[in-house]
Amino acid sequence: MARLIGVHTGDALGISAAARRAGKAGATALQIFTAIPTYYGDKQSIRPERVERFRSALAESKIAPEHVVVHAAYVLNTATADETKWERSRAGLERELERTTALGLGAVCFHPGAATGHDRAAAAKRVARAMTAALRAVPGPTRLLVENTAGAGLTMGRTAEEVGAILDGVPDDLRPRAGYGLDTCHLFAAGHDIAASPAAQRAVLDEFEKAAGEPPRFFHLNDSEGELGSNRDRHALIGEGHIGLEPFRWLLRDPRTKGFRSFSRRRSKPSRRRTMTRPTHGTCGWSSSFAHWSHAGDPRAWAGNPPATDIVGSLGCGTRALPARWPCTGSGGRWSADRLRGPAR
Ligand SMILES: [Zn+2]
Ligand SMILES: [Zn+2]
Repeated sequence: MARLIGVHTGDALGISAAARRAGKAGATALQIFTAIPTYYGDKQSIRPERVERFRSALAESKIAPEHVVVHAAYVLNTATADETKWERSRAGLERELERTTALGLGAVCFHPGAATGHDRAAAAKRVARAMTAALRAVPGPTRLLVENTAGAGLTMGRTAEEVGAILDGVPDDLRPRAGYGLDTCHLFAAGHDIAASPAAQRAVLDEFEKAAGEPPRFFHLNDSEGELGSNRDRHALIGEGHIGLEPFRWLLRDPRTKGFRSFSRRRSKPSRRRTMTRPTHGTCGWSSSFAHWSHAGDPRAWAGNPPATDIVGSLGCGTRALPARWPCTGSGGRWSADRLRGPAR
């Protein structure tokens, strides 16, 4: 089964340019923003011309539309007890799902936000309520995925239980369109020691899988500038943070980073129709193995130490400023997936 490896671009040139660059670099997955991530975007729709341009750019790549994940705006706080902010966040999440569905893409991932009001169980319910409202308002196959967080301040999603509690609040009929993904930096910063040993790492993934009742739908592969349990959401390039290179190799050997199933085995190309057969657990997931490599990364970091497996990195969640020039530019030269792959074993 294929492992999908992609890149998260915060490309100022737009999503079509991002698709072209990622395609040229050999990516098989992609993450994008569809709006400025520091705004609610609660009124922003997407123009049909933009959809068309993006679709044709994607069609020239090896990236299937269902393997594209949209990262929602960071400012959305669906966990908040402040009603005005919650309402704007709910509306923003709905617009995210609407834009992503219009683009015909796989999923929207989002950070659940901060549990102001301090009642974390109530906060989990508020997140689930916002997800439910968005999923009801926007039918279609596109999923809504919670991302685990580094756990700074009152942020929700730092533990497996919290991710599980959020997903538990989504009604059964919509639950197949909900899910979660894991960011390695966030895991580590939140105190999950994925770097201690392969067994310890497996135990962390098992815990999330048990609490959520399913494996993660994507991974964001980031090293961590902060130490274990620091709660700092600061990404480092893979091998340059406190996680280190080796745990990423373990992770990519975990079956949960492989084994991709598409939306529907019955069609090879994403349908432009809005109606879809009803997704059900097991038969239709799109499962794990969405990873990103970094465009903020310097390939020289790998010199003399080529990863023995599909090692990937990520710009992840935008905690790092974009470089002036994207190293991925060009015909897949400096950042080709083959280059990252290193010697086979
Ligand atoms: Zn992050
Ligand atoms: Zn994120």
